[in-house]
Amino acid sequence: MTKTFAVIGDPIDHSLSPNIHNAAFNALGMDCTYIAYRIPKGELKEGIESLKLIKISGFNVTIPHKIEMMKYIDESSEECRTVGAVNTVTNENGKLIGHNTDMGGFLEPIKKRNIAIKNEDVLLLGAGGAARAIVAGFAKEGAHKITIANRTRERGQELAKFAASFGTESDEVTLEEAGQSAGKYRFIVNATSVGLKNEPSPISTNAINSQSIVYDIIYMPMNTDFIIQSKKNSATIIYGYEMLLGQACLAFETWHKVKAPYDAMKKVLLGGF
Ligand code: NAP
Repeated sequence: MTKTFAVIGDPIDHSLSPNIHNAAFNALGMDCTYIAYRIPKGELKEGIESLKLIKISGFNVTIPHKIEMMKYIDESSEECRTVGAVNTVTNENGKLIGHNTDMGGFLEPIKKRNIAIKNEDVLLLGAGGAARAIVAGFAKEGAHKITIANRTRERGQELAKFAASFGTESDEVTLEEAGQSAGKYRFIVNATSVGLKNEPSPISTNAINSQSIVYDIIYMPMNTDFIIQSKKNSATIIYGYEMLLGQACLAFETWHKVKAPYDAMKKVLLGGF
């Protein structure tokens, strides 16, 4: 019987996940399908009931449900509990198991390049849901210090406390200060949504240099202003689409227990740009 998977969220019409997962099913000749299902804020409970009724095999969760989804799972993985949010769910005969592949998906392109995180300093722009998973990832990999810069300073301070809860040194600065001191950090990560609409970089890139690893988690557009300017300064670049693929591969492997066909998934993703 065909197994059905889904991504839930709102808005969901521009999600690239159906393309990525269906390409993987085709590549491996699997009898599975993956759909996008819009569930508006406030309707998560009913939405999940309907997914259970159609015997969904598994689903991804995106904005705005990642945190609220924690209430509706029967069991959770360690990553899920660490980050406090769910982005991947497995349905085992009506029992929902929550996972979080954002953290592993973020780290994957860094590991692929054999870039060490241990004892390195990180400048993280943004303090939203994605930033939280990134902090957990850097902390678990033994980063020396994580500096947070966020438009709303209280949220940045809260996230710095979260980093400290792992025993990682942390502090909070303004976006302006972040631009001035960016050259001191090995990793500079944009986890704000600044760039989605082709806005200028959220910080000055003047201090970024050839030793900097610049990672923008925005995947559309692929080349944000932050990336374009950092390339001019010879920084090593990591693209948001790589995180998207990394987390999709981990979700795929969680559900199907086989290695995800990375190249087939990448091909369809890049074709979608
Ligand atoms: P979120 O929880 O809504 O957080 C948005 C962040 O952007 C907050 O820190 C917010 O600051 C900041 N921000 C928004 N507008 C700003 C502005 N005009 N100036 C300065 N800062 C601004 O969103 P999220 O889930 O963390 O996602 C953030 C971005 O990452 C999105 O663009 C999303 O597409 C991308 N993302 C990519 C992947 C991937 O796989 N590549 C995965 C997850 C997310 P305030 O606190 O001040 O509002």
